[in-house]
Amino acid sequence: MKSIDSTENLQRIDAAHHIHPFTDGKQLAEIGTRIITSADGVFLKDSEGNTLLDGMAGLWCVAIGYGRKELADVAAQQMLELPYYNTFFQTSHVPAIQLSKRLAELAPGDLNHVFFSGSGSEANDTNLRLVRHYWAAKGKPNKQIIISRWNAYHGSTVAAASLGGMKSMHKQGALPIFGIEHINQPDWWSEGGDMTPEEFGLARARELEAKILEVGEENVAAFIAEPIQGAGGVIIPPDSYWPEVQRILNKYEILFIADEVICGFGRTGEWFATQVYNLKPDVMTIAKGLSSGYAPIGGSLISDEVAEVIKNAGDFNHGYTYSAHPVSAAVALENLRILDEEGIVDRVSDTLSSYFAKKWASLSEHPMVGSANSKGLVASLVLTPNKESRAKFASEAGTVGLICRERCFSNNLVMRHVGDRMIVSPPLIITESEIDLLIERAWKSIDEAY
Ligand code: PLP
Repeated sequence: MKSIDSTENLQRIDAAHHIHPFTDGKQLAEIGTRIITSADGVFLKDSEGNTLLDGMAGLWCVAIGYGRKELADVAAQQMLELPYYNTFFQTSHVPAIQLSKRLAELAPGDLNHVFFSGSGSEANDTNLRLVRHYWAAKGKPNKQIIISRWNAYHGSTVAAASLGGMKSMHKQGALPIFGIEHINQPDWWSEGGDMTPEEFGLARARELEAKILEVGEENVAAFIAEPIQGAGGVIIPPDSYWPEVQRILNKYEILFIADEVICGFGRTGEWFATQVYNLKPDVMTIAKGLSSGYAPIGGSLISDEVAEVIKNAGDFNHGYTYSAHPVSAAVALENLRILDEEGIVDRVSDTLSSYFAKKWASLSEHPMVGSANSKGLVASLVLTPNKESRAKFASEAGTVGLICRERCFSNNLVMRHVGDRMIVSPPLIITESEIDLLIERAWKSIDEAY
């Protein structure tokens, strides 16, 4: 039912009763929220009648774009047929079975098994317990440590936030939990100093080896990483980084958990970014693009070897009421059908990535933009007062980024900022002319933020 309330009234009620994720409550009460009322394709409408180009695909998730009736129909049909059943205690249902099969077909390598959850955070909670349980079942209970990276984002539950490397999150709730170690991220622009990107990529990869040796190979269960760090600011690593990390993982037989919550399902130009970087994960975290955000669902894709050990180790005492929720599973299946049959992933890899890369890189001609990099349809640029020295602004970190984000809103573009980095991740169905519009509005907003 459509609300007839005024924006002002809705904002007042929202501020009074709704605690928002990752939001300063005081600021929210002062400025008010932007209320999104409907959406179609790559465009959002707000309660003031503005039409905004959604450069973030919601929260990196609406791969097929807004307004696809097929997904609504599938959800309605599934709700009438079987709105809920679980997959605990020797039961299953058709959407769960079909989606497991489809994911095994799409996943690279031998990731032929899936454990479902309701979100990416839950999936990473599962992964933490899964890899420790795996090693215990193999008679190596000391292998408990999971190595992650500073500034990584793996979700907001206690285990996922611990696995993540956001210090601002660790501060709230006494995190991280036991057995998680962090190494530095491959962010050449901010931390590379005098090294070339290639030297820096190798140096950062080798921190993994140093950490394994420091804590003892016999104590390490897994390494977890996003192929491209998303929420940390779309950190695209130097080319030398991933081959060296994979070499180290092979050498020490450490499990690799690739968190593809953002990168998966076409975002980087292949179905999965581990294919772009030629990586061999043992476990893969999925969510977001799996259902294009039309229904909440996440999962852990698991290799034959790991699954075999877990299946033979008795009960895995773990599960969520909404693991493989039938409505979400049916919606995800329909979303995957659309991504595949409409050639959306192929189009990103064949033509759209290179078109977008050229246009996005053109933003680096702006005097205030340092680097402007992209992979597939995920991209970042760094705002800087001096490109040559890669200087930071004298104002508090993120102030210029925040102003730029606000200018974007005024120019009817949703672009996010992480400190003084601006990031985008538009729906994969974006057209070339919509990309032109995105770039035009981004340039104008950067200009106005200067
Ligand atoms: N992992 C990554 C890489 C993410 O970007 C996110 C969310 O942004 C998550 C995990 C957590 O997913 P969710 O918000 O569905 O719990």
